[in-house]
Amino acid sequence: MRTRDPKKRAKNFLEVSLGITETQAVKEAKRCLQCKRPKCVEGCPVEIDIPRFISMIREKDYTGGLQVIREYNLLPAICGRVCPQENQCQGGCILGKKKTPIAIGALERFLADYEAAYGDAEAPVKAKPNGHKVAVIGSGPAGLTVASDLAKLGYEITIFEALHEPGGVLVYGIPEFRLPKKIIQGEIEYVKSLGVEIKVNWVVGRTETIDELFEEGYEAAFIGTGAGAPRYMSIPGENLNNVYFASEFLTRVNLMKADRFPEYDTPVKKATNVAVIGGGNVAMDAARTALRLGAKNVYIVYRRSEYELPSRQEEVEHAKEEGIKFKYLTSPKEIVSDEKGYVKAMICDRMVLCEPDPSGRRRPECSGDEFTMKVDQVIMAIGQASNPILTHSVKGLNLWGGGYIEVDENGATNLPGIFAGGDIATGAATVISAMGAGKRAARAIDSYIKSLKVSLRKKRKPSAAK
Ligand SMILES: Cc1cc2nc3c(=O)[nH]c(=O)nc-3n(C[C@H](O)[C@H](O)[C@H](O)COP(=O)(O)OP(=O)(O)OC[C@H]3O[C@@H](n4cnc5c(N)ncnc54)[C@H](O)[C@@H]3O)c2cc1C
Ligand code: SF4
Repeated sequence: MRTRDPKKRAKNFLEVSLGITETQAVKEAKRCLQCKRPKCVEGCPVEIDIPRFISMIREKDYTGGLQVIREYNLLPAICGRVCPQENQCQGGCILGKKKTPIAIGALERFLADYEAAYGDAEAPVKAKPNGHKVAVIGSGPAGLTVASDLAKLGYEITIFEALHEPGGVLVYGIPEFRLPKKIIQGEIEYVKSLGVEIKVNWVVGRTETIDELFEEGYEAAFIGTGAGAPRYMSIPGENLNNVYFASEFLTRVNLMKADRFPEYDTPVKKATNVAVIGGGNVAMDAARTALRLGAKNVYIVYRRSEYELPSRQEEVEHAKEEGIKFKYLTSPKEIVSDEKGYVKAMICDRMVLCEPDPSGRRRPECSGDEFTMKVDQVIMAIGQASNPILTHSVKGLNLWGGGYIEVDENGATNLPGIFAGGDIATGAATVISAMGAGKRAARAIDSYIKSLKVSLRKKRKPSAAK
């Protein structure tokens, strides 16, 4: 895939990857073997008919190809950009055994971008209302998927979103240089065009409780509130000035436009030497954002080796090209203050890798050796936790792992009419897994409401006979 020049792009927020051309897309599609039992589909959490959309690219039927994807996946322009394809569809592609797997993500993105640039897709026809109302809490990929799948069945859907813009992590977490905001806005407009209403600045659990929503006539509620609360390491110095939780740092820039302070009035502290703790997508995004804000040296500090980095491969490659420095087998032990309470250094343990832990990755242990890094900003990107505002307001809701919602395979909680999915049920995961959970929950909510209708009919029958 074509990308912008690393030196230039490290100074701005323009999208780094430029996608593939039509000629490249058709050529790549022709490499596909059109397998009878396609392993790529097995690797996709929403089971997109990948060979079918690829065959349409061969025939240059791009609108048809996109329609195939949209049958399974509401957000192709987004998934084509941010899905960890190397571990999912592309990871399964049979061609990957001997040669290069098909660039499925790039093809998905090509179709979505082609449609946005030249497409003539008609606006979706709104379904005939079926007279039932469902509340969706949170407008991330899980909430958007439930909302659109149910709207297509005729449900009246309202999404309640705590922030002032819908989109969840897609707008507040993932930076513009990886996922331009206009792409998300386009996908959200599509959801709205199905008749979905989105109420922003609405914190369910504070502005209104779920019980109150039920009193207003909603017959079911889906909770897709994500995992956006901070998680720290519990080491000395974490409360010093210039220590950020990655999501806060990213939200300030992505959503509140802190990079354009004072034009926008949310500031973010700029620094010269920045340490980002963690090795996932969040860490890469925070590091590359710090670089774009003007830092001279940005370090990814990760306690395992390069081999175990959980981030998407492409993001690691892009980060390296831009000049991010990687400190592997390193774990912070203490953040050191200057006389004014600001970060001035970080003391770190050197780690060694031992036997694999339950996650399958080799467990890091202190080697007994330590060293000091001169940094003036530390950004924690070691994972996120669930936010308790909503879960604590729902009496009797079963939780696991200190705050995630317990659900069955269809997203049903232990309380009738309340469903959940995405990061709030699984812990921090991926866009496509949140969408998969949304799809399953939409089917379950439809069955639940239909079963309510049946039991109401049964109840009414005797009185009707009188
Ligand atoms: C910086 C970052 C980078 C990432 N990069 C990738 C990537 O490259 N690829 C990938 O697949 N995944 C990535 N992820 C993970 C992915 O974004 C999440 O797994 C996914 O967004 C989860 O979707 P969700 O719908 O469950 O929740 P979210 O996207 O978190 O959305 C939840 C929404 O609920 C709202 N909300 C919370 N509480 C309330 C309340 N009480 N009332 C109303 N609304 C509420 C929130 O404001 C938010 O808008 C990344 C995550 C982060 C943080
Ligand atoms: S596994 Fe690879 S070659 Fe086979 S259908 Fe899927 S993308 Fe094509």
